[in-house]
Amino acid sequence: MQELSHWIDGDHVKGGSGRMADVFNPATGEVQARVPLASKDEVDAAIARAAEAQPKWGATNPQRRARVLMEFVRLLNRDMDKLAEALSREHGKTFPDAKGDVQRGLEVIEFCIGAPHLLKGDFSDSAGPGIDMYSMRQPLGVVAGITPFNFPAMIPMWKMGPALACGNAFILKPSERDPSVPLMLAELLKEAGLPDGILQVVNGDKEAVDAILDNETIQAVGFVGSTPIAQYIYARGCANGKRVQCFGGAKNHMIVMPDADMDQAADALVGAGYGAAGERCMAISVAVPVGDKTADALIEKLVPRIEKLKVGPYTAGDDVDYGPLVTAQAKKRVLGLVNSGVEQGAELVVDGRDFKLQGYENGFFVGPHLFDRVTTDMDIYTQEIFGPVLSTVRAGSYEEALKTAMDNEYGNGTAIFTRDGDTARDFASRINIGMVGVNVPIPVPLAYHTFGGWKKSGFGDLNQHGPDSFKFYTRTKTVTARWPSGLKEGGEFHFKQMD
Ligand code: NAD
Repeated sequence: MQELSHWIDGDHVKGGSGRMADVFNPATGEVQARVPLASKDEVDAAIARAAEAQPKWGATNPQRRARVLMEFVRLLNRDMDKLAEALSREHGKTFPDAKGDVQRGLEVIEFCIGAPHLLKGDFSDSAGPGIDMYSMRQPLGVVAGITPFNFPAMIPMWKMGPALACGNAFILKPSERDPSVPLMLAELLKEAGLPDGILQVVNGDKEAVDAILDNETIQAVGFVGSTPIAQYIYARGCANGKRVQCFGGAKNHMIVMPDADMDQAADALVGAGYGAAGERCMAISVAVPVGDKTADALIEKLVPRIEKLKVGPYTAGDDVDYGPLVTAQAKKRVLGLVNSGVEQGAELVVDGRDFKLQGYENGFFVGPHLFDRVTTDMDIYTQEIFGPVLSTVRAGSYEEALKTAMDNEYGNGTAIFTRDGDTARDFASRINIGMVGVNVPIPVPLAYHTFGGWKKSGFGDLNQHGPDSFKFYTRTKTVTARWPSGLKEGGEFHFKQMD
Protein backbone atom coordinates (compact mmCIF):
# COMPACT_ATOMS: atom_id res chain seq x y z
CA MET A 1 0.00 0.00 0.00
CA GLN A 2 1.46 3.32 -1.10
CA GLU A 3 1.66 5.94 1.64
CA LEU A 4 1.50 9.47 0.24
CA SER A 5 3.09 12.52 1.86
CA HIS A 6 2.92 16.28 2.17
CA TRP A 7 5.30 18.52 0.18
CA ILE A 8 7.08 20.91 2.51
CA ASP A 9 10.17 22.98 1.90
CA GLY A 10 10.96 21.32 -1.41
CA ASP A 11 10.60 17.71 -0.30
CA HIS A 12 8.18 14.93 0.54
CA VAL A 13 7.34 14.87 4.24
CA LYS A 14 5.52 12.05 6.00
CA GLY A 15 2.29 12.89 7.78
CA GLY A 16 2.66 13.28 11.53
CA SER A 17 -0.93 13.58 12.73
CA GLY A 18 -1.64 9.84 12.80
CA ARG A 19 -4.76 10.44 10.70
CA MET A 20 -4.98 9.05 7.16
CA ALA A 21 -7.62 8.77 4.40
CA ASP A 22 -8.05 6.03 1.78
CA VAL A 23 -7.42 6.86 -1.87
CA PHE A 24 -9.42 4.52 -4.10
CA ASN A 25 -8.99 3.14 -7.57
CA PRO A 26 -12.56 4.04 -8.67
CA ALA A 27 -12.52 1.46 -11.47
CA THR A 28 -11.95 -1.48 -9.13
CA GLY A 29 -13.14 -0.07 -5.82
CA GLU A 30 -9.82 -1.03 -4.21
CA VAL A 31 -7.87 1.21 -1.84
CA GLN A 32 -4.64 1.95 -3.71
CA ALA A 33 -2.98 4.50 -1.41
CA ARG A 34 -3.35 6.32 1.88
CA VAL A 35 -3.00 10.05 2.23
CA PRO A 36 -2.01 11.82 5.44
CA LEU A 37 -4.46 14.33 6.91
CA ALA A 38 -2.53 17.27 8.30
CA SER A 39 -3.06 18.55 11.84
CA LYS A 40 -3.38 22.25 12.65
CA ASP A 41 0.23 22.26 13.90
CA GLU A 42 1.53 20.76 10.65
CA VAL A 43 -0.37 23.36 8.59
CA ASP A 44 0.85 26.22 10.79
CA ALA A 45 4.47 25.01 10.45
CA ALA A 46 4.15 24.81 6.65
CA ILE A 47 2.77 28.36 6.55
CA ALA A 48 5.51 29.68 8.85
CA ARG A 49 8.21 28.21 6.61
CA ALA A 50 6.51 29.72 3.52
CA ALA A 51 6.46 33.12 5.22
CA GLU A 52 10.25 32.90 5.72
CA ALA A 53 10.87 32.03 2.08
CA GLN A 54 8.42 34.48 0.47
CA PRO A 55 10.19 37.89 0.76
CA LYS A 56 13.10 36.74 -1.43
CA TRP A 57 10.75 35.31 -4.06
CA GLY A 58 8.60 38.45 -3.94
CA ALA A 59 11.70 40.58 -4.55
CA THR A 60 12.86 38.42 -7.47
CA ASN A 61 12.12 40.29 -10.65
CA PRO A 62 8.94 39.11 -12.41
CA GLN A 63 10.82 38.02 -15.51
CA ARG A 64 12.92 35.58 -13.50
CA ARG A 65 9.82 34.24 -11.79
CA ALA A 66 8.21 33.84 -15.22
CA ARG A 67 11.22 31.83 -16.41
CA VAL A 68 10.56 29.26 -13.68
CA LEU A 69 7.02 28.92 -15.02
CA MET A 70 8.35 28.68 -18.59
CA GLU A 71 10.47 25.71 -17.58
CA PHE A 72 7.50 24.26 -15.67
CA VAL A 73 5.49 24.31 -18.93
CA ARG A 74 8.27 22.37 -20.67
CA LEU A 75 8.29 19.78 -17.88
CA LEU A 76 4.49 19.47 -17.91
CA ASN A 77 4.66 18.68 -21.63
CA ARG A 78 7.52 16.24 -21.05
CA ASP A 79 5.54 14.39 -18.34
CA MET A 80 2.05 14.81 -19.82
CA ASP A 81 1.37 11.07 -20.16
CA LYS A 82 2.73 10.26 -16.72
CA LEU A 83 0.59 12.96 -15.11
CA ALA A 84 -2.52 11.95 -17.04
CA GLU A 85 -2.05 8.31 -16.10
CA ALA A 86 -1.73 9.12 -12.38
CA LEU A 87 -4.79 11.37 -12.69
CA SER A 88 -6.95 8.72 -14.38
CA ARG A 89 -5.85 6.11 -11.83
CA GLU A 90 -7.14 8.13 -8.87
CA HIS A 91 -9.97 10.13 -10.42
CA GLY A 92 -11.28 7.56 -12.90
CA LYS A 93 -11.65 9.87 -15.93
CA THR A 94 -10.54 8.65 -19.35
CA PHE A 95 -6.93 9.12 -20.43
CA PRO A 96 -7.68 11.76 -23.14
CA ASP A 97 -9.86 13.64 -20.64
CA ALA A 98 -7.07 13.49 -18.03
CA LYS A 99 -4.68 14.99 -20.58
CA GLY A 100 -7.23 17.78 -21.12
CA ASP A 101 -7.23 18.36 -17.34
CA VAL A 102 -3.44 18.86 -17.39
CA GLN A 103 -3.57 20.88 -20.62
CA ARG A 104 -6.15 23.42 -19.39
CA GLY A 105 -4.00 24.00 -16.29
CA LEU A 106 -0.84 24.29 -18.37
CA GLU A 107 -2.48 26.99 -20.49
CA VAL A 108 -2.97 29.13 -17.39
CA ILE A 109 0.72 28.70 -16.54
CA GLU A 110 1.50 29.86 -20.10
CA PHE A 111 -0.67 32.94 -19.49
CA CYS A 112 1.20 33.63 -16.23
CA ILE A 113 4.50 33.78 -18.11
CA GLY A 114 3.22 37.23 -19.11
CA ALA A 115 3.68 38.35 -15.47
CA PRO A 116 6.19 41.13 -16.26
CA HIS A 117 3.59 42.73 -18.50
CA LEU A 118 0.60 41.94 -16.29
CA LEU A 119 2.24 43.39 -13.19
CA LYS A 120 3.08 46.73 -14.80
CA GLY A 121 1.56 49.60 -12.87
CA ASP A 122 0.02 52.88 -14.00
CA PHE A 123 2.00 56.12 -14.20
CA SER A 124 0.74 59.70 -14.43
CA ASP A 125 3.42 62.13 -15.44
CA SER A 126 2.97 65.63 -13.95
CA ALA A 127 -0.22 64.84 -12.09
CA GLY A 128 0.38 68.17 -10.37
CA PRO A 129 3.16 70.72 -10.48
CA GLY A 130 6.34 68.63 -10.28
CA ILE A 131 4.30 65.70 -9.07
CA ASP A 132 4.20 62.21 -10.56
CA MET A 133 1.76 59.56 -9.46
CA TYR A 134 2.22 55.84 -9.98
CA SER A 135 0.79 52.58 -8.79
CA MET A 136 2.39 49.20 -8.38
CA ARG A 137 1.02 45.73 -7.81
CA GLN A 138 2.75 43.93 -4.96
CA PRO A 139 2.42 40.32 -3.75
CA LEU A 140 0.19 39.65 -0.77
CA GLY A 141 2.64 37.36 1.02
CA VAL A 142 1.46 33.82 1.82
CA VAL A 143 -1.78 32.79 0.11
CA ALA A 144 -3.69 29.49 -0.10
CA GLY A 145 -5.76 27.41 -2.50
CA ILE A 146 -8.27 24.70 -1.54
CA THR A 147 -9.26 22.57 -4.51
CA PRO A 148 -11.83 19.88 -5.46
CA PHE A 149 -11.39 16.32 -6.67
CA ASN A 150 -12.79 16.75 -10.17
CA PHE A 151 -9.86 18.61 -11.78
CA PRO A 152 -6.82 17.61 -9.69
CA ALA A 153 -4.32 19.13 -12.18
CA MET A 154 -6.17 22.05 -13.75
CA ILE A 155 -7.62 23.79 -10.71
CA PRO A 156 -4.45 23.65 -8.55
CA MET A 157 -2.60 25.18 -11.54
CA TRP A 158 -5.30 27.88 -11.97
CA LYS A 159 -4.52 28.90 -8.40
CA MET A 160 -0.77 28.36 -8.05
CA GLY A 161 0.19 29.84 -11.44
CA PRO A 162 -0.98 33.42 -10.85
CA ALA A 163 -0.18 33.31 -7.11
CA LEU A 164 3.45 32.33 -7.73
CA ALA A 165 3.88 34.59 -10.77
CA CYS A 166 2.81 37.54 -8.60
CA GLY A 167 5.54 36.74 -6.06
CA ASN A 168 3.51 35.04 -3.32
CA ALA A 169 4.24 31.83 -1.48
CA PHE A 170 1.40 29.36 -2.00
CA ILE A 171 -0.15 26.76 0.29
CA LEU A 172 -2.14 24.16 -1.66
CA LYS A 173 -4.68 21.96 0.11
CA PRO A 174 -5.80 19.60 -2.68
CA SER A 175 -8.67 17.15 -2.53
CA GLU A 176 -7.88 14.17 -0.34
CA ARG A 177 -9.54 11.88 -2.93
CA ASP A 178 -6.90 12.30 -5.67
CA PRO A 179 -3.79 13.92 -4.14
CA SER A 180 -1.01 12.34 -6.25
CA VAL A 181 -1.05 14.75 -9.21
CA PRO A 182 -0.77 17.91 -7.04
CA LEU A 183 2.32 16.32 -5.39
CA MET A 184 3.78 15.59 -8.84
CA LEU A 185 3.18 19.23 -9.85
CA ALA A 186 5.16 20.33 -6.79
CA GLU A 187 8.06 18.03 -7.78
CA LEU A 188 8.05 19.52 -11.30
CA LEU A 189 8.03 23.09 -9.98
CA LYS A 190 11.09 22.31 -7.88
CA GLU A 191 12.80 20.84 -10.94
CA ALA A 192 11.85 24.02 -12.83
CA GLY A 193 13.73 26.11 -10.27
CA LEU A 194 11.09 27.20 -7.76
CA PRO A 195 12.86 27.92 -4.45
CA ASP A 196 12.03 25.63 -1.52
CA GLY A 197 9.19 26.74 0.74
CA ILE A 198 7.42 28.82 -1.94
CA LEU A 199 4.96 26.02 -2.73
CA GLN A 200 3.78 23.82 0.13
CA VAL A 201 1.26 21.04 -0.43
CA VAL A 202 -0.57 20.08 2.74
CA ASN A 203 -2.89 17.16 2.36
CA GLY A 204 -5.88 17.03 4.63
CA ASP A 205 -9.53 17.54 5.38
CA LYS A 206 -11.59 20.04 7.38
CA GLU A 207 -8.92 20.33 10.10
CA ALA A 208 -6.31 21.49 7.57
CA VAL A 209 -8.80 23.84 5.88
CA ASP A 210 -9.78 25.42 9.20
CA ALA A 211 -6.10 25.84 10.12
CA ILE A 212 -5.57 27.75 6.85
CA LEU A 213 -8.64 29.91 7.43
CA ASP A 214 -7.63 30.80 10.98
CA ASN A 215 -3.92 31.36 10.36
CA GLU A 216 -3.06 35.06 10.59
CA THR A 217 -0.22 34.84 8.07
CA ILE A 218 -2.52 33.74 5.23
CA GLN A 219 -3.59 36.80 3.26
CA ALA A 220 -5.90 35.31 0.64
CA VAL A 221 -7.77 32.06 0.04
CA GLY A 222 -9.01 30.76 -3.31
CA PHE A 223 -11.48 27.88 -3.09
CA VAL A 224 -13.23 25.65 -5.63
CA GLY A 225 -15.71 22.96 -4.57
CA SER A 226 -19.34 22.45 -3.57
CA THR A 227 -21.58 25.39 -2.64
CA PRO A 228 -22.11 24.62 1.08
CA ILE A 229 -18.34 24.41 1.65
CA ALA A 230 -17.76 27.50 -0.53
CA GLN A 231 -20.18 29.47 1.65
CA TYR A 232 -18.55 28.19 4.82
CA ILE A 233 -15.03 29.03 3.67
CA TYR A 234 -16.10 32.45 2.40
CA ALA A 235 -17.76 33.34 5.71
CA ARG A 236 -14.93 32.09 7.95
CA GLY A 237 -12.13 33.47 5.77
CA CYS A 238 -13.76 36.92 5.49
CA ALA A 239 -14.52 37.00 9.23
CA ASN A 240 -10.77 36.50 9.75
CA GLY A 241 -10.03 39.48 7.52
CA LYS A 242 -8.73 37.57 4.49
CA ARG A 243 -9.31 38.19 0.82
CA VAL A 244 -11.47 35.21 -0.25
CA GLN A 245 -12.90 33.97 -3.54
CA CYS A 246 -14.97 30.78 -3.57
CA PHE A 247 -16.39 29.00 -6.60
CA GLY A 248 -19.20 26.57 -5.88
CA GLY A 249 -21.53 24.04 -7.47
CA ALA A 250 -23.60 24.30 -10.61
CA LYS A 251 -26.76 23.32 -12.45
CA ASN A 252 -26.08 24.27 -16.05
CA HIS A 253 -29.01 24.62 -18.48
CA MET A 254 -28.85 24.28 -22.24
CA ILE A 255 -31.71 25.96 -24.08
CA VAL A 256 -32.57 24.30 -27.40
CA MET A 257 -34.59 26.54 -29.73
CA PRO A 258 -36.90 25.08 -32.40
CA ASP A 259 -34.59 26.36 -35.16
CA ALA A 260 -31.48 24.65 -33.75
CA ASP A 261 -29.64 21.97 -35.69
CA MET A 262 -30.99 19.00 -33.70
CA ASP A 263 -28.11 16.66 -34.54
CA GLN A 264 -25.61 19.24 -33.42
CA ALA A 265 -27.60 19.95 -30.24
CA ALA A 266 -27.91 16.23 -29.41
CA ASP A 267 -24.19 15.60 -29.98
CA ALA A 268 -23.35 18.59 -27.80
CA LEU A 269 -25.69 17.46 -25.01
CA VAL A 270 -24.29 13.94 -24.91
CA GLY A 271 -20.69 15.21 -24.63
CA ALA A 272 -21.52 17.94 -22.13
CA GLY A 273 -23.92 15.86 -20.04
CA TYR A 274 -22.04 12.55 -19.78
CA GLY A 275 -18.35 13.47 -20.35
CA ALA A 276 -16.27 12.81 -17.21
CA ALA A 277 -19.37 10.95 -15.89
CA GLY A 278 -21.04 14.33 -15.36
CA GLU A 279 -18.44 15.26 -12.72
CA ARG A 280 -17.68 18.67 -14.21
CA CYS A 281 -18.82 21.98 -12.81
CA MET A 282 -19.51 23.05 -16.39
CA ALA A 283 -21.41 19.85 -17.31
CA ILE A 284 -24.84 20.43 -18.80
CA SER A 285 -27.26 18.73 -16.45
CA VAL A 286 -30.52 20.29 -17.67
CA ALA A 287 -31.74 20.41 -21.29
CA VAL A 288 -34.50 22.96 -21.91
CA PRO A 289 -36.09 22.37 -25.31
CA VAL A 290 -38.53 25.09 -26.37
CA GLY A 291 -41.85 23.62 -27.52
CA ASP A 292 -43.04 20.01 -27.41
CA LYS A 293 -42.08 19.41 -31.05
CA THR A 294 -38.49 20.43 -30.27
CA ALA A 295 -38.50 18.30 -27.11
CA ASP A 296 -39.79 15.20 -28.92
CA ALA A 297 -37.25 15.62 -31.73
CA LEU A 298 -34.42 16.14 -29.25
CA ILE A 299 -35.28 13.09 -27.12
CA GLU A 300 -35.52 10.98 -30.28
CA LYS A 301 -32.01 12.07 -31.29
CA LEU A 302 -30.58 11.71 -27.77
CA VAL A 303 -31.71 8.18 -26.91
CA PRO A 304 -29.65 6.22 -29.51
CA ARG A 305 -26.60 8.38 -28.82
CA ILE A 306 -26.85 7.75 -25.06
CA GLU A 307 -27.43 4.03 -25.52
CA LYS A 308 -24.24 3.83 -27.56
CA LEU A 309 -22.04 5.40 -24.85
CA LYS A 310 -19.09 3.23 -23.84
CA VAL A 311 -18.56 3.26 -20.09
CA GLY A 312 -15.35 1.72 -18.75
CA PRO A 313 -11.99 2.08 -17.03
CA TYR A 314 -9.37 4.39 -18.55
CA THR A 315 -7.24 1.34 -19.27
CA ALA A 316 -9.82 0.03 -21.79
CA GLY A 317 -8.69 2.47 -24.49
CA ASP A 318 -9.29 5.94 -25.84
CA ASP A 319 -12.74 5.11 -27.21
CA VAL A 320 -14.19 4.88 -23.68
CA ASP A 321 -16.62 7.80 -23.29
CA TYR A 322 -16.56 8.05 -19.53
CA GLY A 323 -15.31 6.23 -16.45
CA PRO A 324 -16.50 5.55 -12.91
CA LEU A 325 -17.58 8.09 -10.31
CA VAL A 326 -14.97 9.03 -7.74
CA THR A 327 -16.25 7.13 -4.68
CA ALA A 328 -18.83 4.57 -3.61
CA GLN A 329 -20.67 7.35 -1.73
CA ALA A 330 -20.91 9.42 -4.92
CA LYS A 331 -22.41 6.41 -6.73
CA LYS A 332 -24.93 5.79 -3.95
CA ARG A 333 -25.93 9.46 -3.91
CA VAL A 334 -26.43 9.65 -7.68
CA LEU A 335 -28.51 6.44 -7.80
CA GLY A 336 -30.55 7.70 -4.83
CA LEU A 337 -31.35 10.88 -6.74
CA VAL A 338 -32.31 8.88 -9.85
CA ASN A 339 -34.78 6.87 -7.72
CA SER A 340 -36.19 10.10 -6.29
CA GLY A 341 -36.76 11.36 -9.84
CA VAL A 342 -38.79 8.26 -10.67
CA GLU A 343 -40.76 8.52 -7.41
CA GLN A 344 -41.49 12.20 -7.96
CA GLY A 345 -42.94 11.56 -11.41
CA ALA A 346 -40.22 12.33 -13.97
CA GLU A 347 -40.10 10.05 -17.01
CA LEU A 348 -36.91 7.94 -17.03
CA VAL A 349 -36.31 7.52 -20.76
CA VAL A 350 -32.86 5.91 -20.47
CA ASP A 351 -32.39 3.86 -17.29
CA GLY A 352 -28.78 3.08 -16.36
CA ARG A 353 -29.52 1.71 -12.90
CA ASP A 354 -28.73 -1.90 -13.77
CA PHE A 355 -25.43 -1.08 -15.43
CA LYS A 356 -22.72 -3.66 -14.66
CA LEU A 357 -19.24 -4.00 -16.10
CA GLN A 358 -17.81 -7.50 -16.19
CA GLY A 359 -14.58 -7.72 -14.23
CA TYR A 360 -15.25 -4.38 -12.52
CA GLU A 361 -18.25 -5.26 -10.38
CA ASN A 362 -16.83 -3.39 -7.37
CA GLY A 363 -15.98 -0.25 -9.35
CA PHE A 364 -17.99 2.95 -8.97
CA PHE A 365 -19.48 2.89 -12.48
CA VAL A 366 -22.93 4.35 -13.12
CA GLY A 367 -24.76 3.88 -16.43
CA PRO A 368 -26.15 6.90 -18.30
CA HIS A 369 -29.62 8.21 -17.43
CA LEU A 370 -31.97 10.51 -19.31
CA PHE A 371 -35.05 12.06 -17.72
CA ASP A 372 -37.87 13.78 -19.58
CA ARG A 373 -40.72 15.92 -18.17
CA VAL A 374 -38.72 17.04 -15.14
CA THR A 375 -40.30 19.87 -13.14
CA THR A 376 -38.41 22.48 -11.17
CA ASP A 377 -39.68 21.27 -7.78
CA MET A 378 -38.14 17.79 -8.12
CA ASP A 379 -34.96 16.86 -6.22
CA ILE A 380 -33.23 15.90 -9.48
CA TYR A 381 -33.71 19.51 -10.56
CA THR A 382 -33.01 21.37 -7.34
CA GLN A 383 -29.87 19.39 -6.41
CA GLU A 384 -26.54 19.21 -8.20
CA ILE A 385 -26.37 15.51 -9.15
CA PHE A 386 -22.73 15.44 -10.34
CA GLY A 387 -23.24 12.17 -12.20
CA PRO A 388 -24.21 10.87 -15.67
CA VAL A 389 -27.82 12.05 -15.45
CA LEU A 390 -29.39 14.53 -17.88
CA SER A 391 -32.77 16.07 -17.02
CA THR A 392 -35.11 17.56 -19.60
CA VAL A 393 -37.34 20.45 -18.51
CA ARG A 394 -39.76 21.31 -21.31
CA ALA A 395 -40.48 25.02 -21.85
CA GLY A 396 -43.44 26.50 -23.75
CA SER A 397 -41.57 29.54 -25.03
CA TYR A 398 -38.17 31.22 -25.18
CA GLU A 399 -39.18 33.54 -22.31
CA GLU A 400 -40.15 30.55 -20.16
CA ALA A 401 -36.84 28.80 -20.92
CA LEU A 402 -34.91 31.96 -20.08
CA LYS A 403 -36.83 32.37 -16.82
CA THR A 404 -36.21 28.74 -15.83
CA ALA A 405 -32.44 29.19 -16.13
CA MET A 406 -32.55 32.60 -14.45
CA ASP A 407 -34.63 31.39 -11.49
CA ASN A 408 -32.20 28.57 -10.73
CA GLU A 409 -30.05 29.35 -7.69
CA TYR A 410 -26.83 28.40 -9.47
CA GLY A 411 -25.22 30.55 -12.14
CA ASN A 412 -22.04 28.88 -13.36
CA GLY A 413 -22.54 28.16 -17.07
CA THR A 414 -25.31 27.96 -19.65
CA ALA A 415 -25.75 27.55 -23.39
CA ILE A 416 -28.24 28.27 -26.11
CA PHE A 417 -28.54 26.36 -29.37
CA THR A 418 -30.18 28.36 -32.15
CA ARG A 419 -29.58 29.60 -35.69
CA ASP A 420 -31.05 33.00 -34.85
CA GLY A 421 -28.53 35.72 -33.98
CA ASP A 422 -31.12 37.97 -32.38
CA THR A 423 -32.25 35.25 -29.93
CA ALA A 424 -28.65 34.37 -29.09
CA ARG A 425 -27.76 38.02 -28.49
CA ASP A 426 -30.81 38.60 -26.28
CA PHE A 427 -29.96 35.48 -24.27
CA ALA A 428 -26.31 36.43 -23.75
CA SER A 429 -27.33 39.91 -22.69
CA ARG A 430 -30.15 39.08 -20.25
CA ILE A 431 -29.11 35.82 -18.60
CA ASN A 432 -27.82 36.11 -14.98
CA ILE A 433 -25.14 33.44 -15.37
CA GLY A 434 -21.37 33.93 -15.50
CA MET A 435 -20.36 31.91 -18.58
CA VAL A 436 -22.52 31.65 -21.69
CA GLY A 437 -22.19 29.43 -24.77
CA VAL A 438 -23.82 30.18 -28.10
CA ASN A 439 -23.96 26.85 -29.91
CA VAL A 440 -21.09 25.87 -27.59
CA PRO A 441 -22.20 23.51 -24.79
CA ILE A 442 -19.29 23.93 -22.33
CA PRO A 443 -18.19 27.56 -22.56
CA VAL A 444 -15.06 27.34 -20.40
CA PRO A 445 -13.16 30.57 -21.08
CA LEU A 446 -9.54 30.26 -22.19
CA ALA A 447 -6.66 31.19 -19.88
CA TYR A 448 -6.46 34.85 -20.92
CA HIS A 449 -10.16 35.44 -20.17
CA THR A 450 -11.58 34.79 -16.72
CA PHE A 451 -13.63 31.93 -15.27
CA GLY A 452 -16.33 32.43 -12.67
CA GLY A 453 -19.98 31.79 -11.94
CA TRP A 454 -22.70 34.00 -10.50
CA LYS A 455 -25.33 33.48 -7.79
CA LYS A 456 -24.60 30.40 -5.61
CA SER A 457 -21.79 29.34 -7.97
CA GLY A 458 -19.43 32.13 -6.91
CA PHE A 459 -18.73 34.10 -3.74
CA GLY A 460 -16.44 37.08 -3.49
CA ASP A 461 -14.90 39.39 -6.01
CA LEU A 462 -12.82 38.68 -9.14
CA ASN A 463 -12.73 35.56 -11.28
CA GLN A 464 -10.17 32.80 -11.70
CA HIS A 465 -7.26 33.08 -14.18
CA GLY A 466 -6.94 35.82 -16.79
CA PRO A 467 -6.25 39.41 -15.69
CA ASP A 468 -8.55 39.07 -12.63
CA SER A 469 -6.21 36.50 -11.08
CA PHE A 470 -3.33 38.98 -11.10
CA LYS A 471 -5.55 41.44 -9.26
CA PHE A 472 -6.65 38.82 -6.74
CA TYR A 473 -3.09 37.79 -5.82
CA THR A 474 -1.65 41.31 -5.57
CA ARG A 475 -2.50 44.54 -3.82
CA THR A 476 -2.15 48.00 -5.26
CA LYS A 477 0.09 50.62 -3.79
CA THR A 478 -0.16 54.15 -5.16
CA VAL A 479 2.72 56.57 -4.79
CA THR A 480 2.52 60.34 -5.17
CA ALA A 481 6.04 61.69 -5.64
CA ARG A 482 7.50 65.13 -5.94
CA TRP A 483 11.13 65.81 -6.79
CA PRO A 484 12.95 67.79 -5.60
CA SER A 485 11.58 67.85 -2.08
CA GLY A 486 8.77 70.22 -1.14
CA LEU A 487 11.09 71.89 1.39
CA LYS A 488 12.30 74.17 -1.39
CA GLU A 489 8.81 75.69 -1.59
CA GLY A 490 8.12 75.79 2.13
CA GLY A 491 5.57 73.77 4.10
CA GLU A 492 2.01 73.24 2.91
CA PHE A 493 -1.04 73.41 5.13
CA HIS A 494 -3.91 72.91 2.71
CA PHE A 495 -5.23 69.77 1.03
CA LYS A 496 -3.96 70.66 -2.45
CA GLN A 497 -5.85 70.33 -5.69
CA MET A 498 -3.86 69.03 -8.64
CA ASP A 499 -4.15 72.20 -10.67
P1 NAD B 1 -16.04 19.56 -1.84
O1 NAD B 1 -16.71 20.84 -1.50
O2 NAD B 1 -16.49 18.32 -1.15
O3 NAD B 1 -14.46 19.67 -1.52
C1 NAD B 1 -13.68 20.73 -2.00
C2 NAD B 1 -12.52 20.98 -1.04
O4 NAD B 1 -13.05 21.35 0.24
C3 NAD B 1 -11.64 19.76 -0.81
O5 NAD B 1 -10.29 20.17 -0.77
C4 NAD B 1 -12.11 19.23 0.53
O6 NAD B 1 -11.09 18.58 1.26
C5 NAD B 1 -12.57 20.48 1.25
N1 NAD B 1 -13.66 20.21 2.20
C6 NAD B 1 -14.63 19.27 2.09
N2 NAD B 1 -15.46 19.32 3.15
C7 NAD B 1 -15.02 20.33 3.94
C8 NAD B 1 -15.48 20.88 5.18
N3 NAD B 1 -16.55 20.40 5.81
N4 NAD B 1 -14.79 21.92 5.70
C9 NAD B 1 -13.71 22.42 5.09
N5 NAD B 1 -13.24 21.92 3.91
C10 NAD B 1 -13.88 20.90 3.34
O7 NAD B 1 -16.11 19.40 -3.44
P2 NAD B 1 -15.67 18.17 -4.33
O8 NAD B 1 -16.64 17.05 -4.13
O9 NAD B 1 -14.23 17.87 -4.15
O10 NAD B 1 -15.85 18.79 -5.79
C11 NAD B 1 -17.06 18.80 -6.48
C12 NAD B 1 -17.77 20.13 -6.35
O11 NAD B 1 -16.94 21.19 -6.82
C13 NAD B 1 -19.03 20.23 -7.20
O12 NAD B 1 -20.03 20.87 -6.44
C14 NAD B 1 -18.61 21.08 -8.39
O13 NAD B 1 -19.65 21.76 -9.03
C15 NAD B 1 -17.66 22.01 -7.73
N6 NAD B 1 -16.75 22.63 -8.69
C16 NAD B 1 -16.93 23.95 -8.98
C17 NAD B 1 -16.10 24.56 -9.90
C18 NAD B 1 -16.26 26.02 -10.22
O14 NAD B 1 -15.35 26.61 -10.80
N7 NAD B 1 -17.37 26.64 -9.87
C19 NAD B 1 -15.09 23.83 -10.53
C20 NAD B 1 -14.94 22.48 -10.19
C21 NAD B 1 -15.78 21.89 -9.26
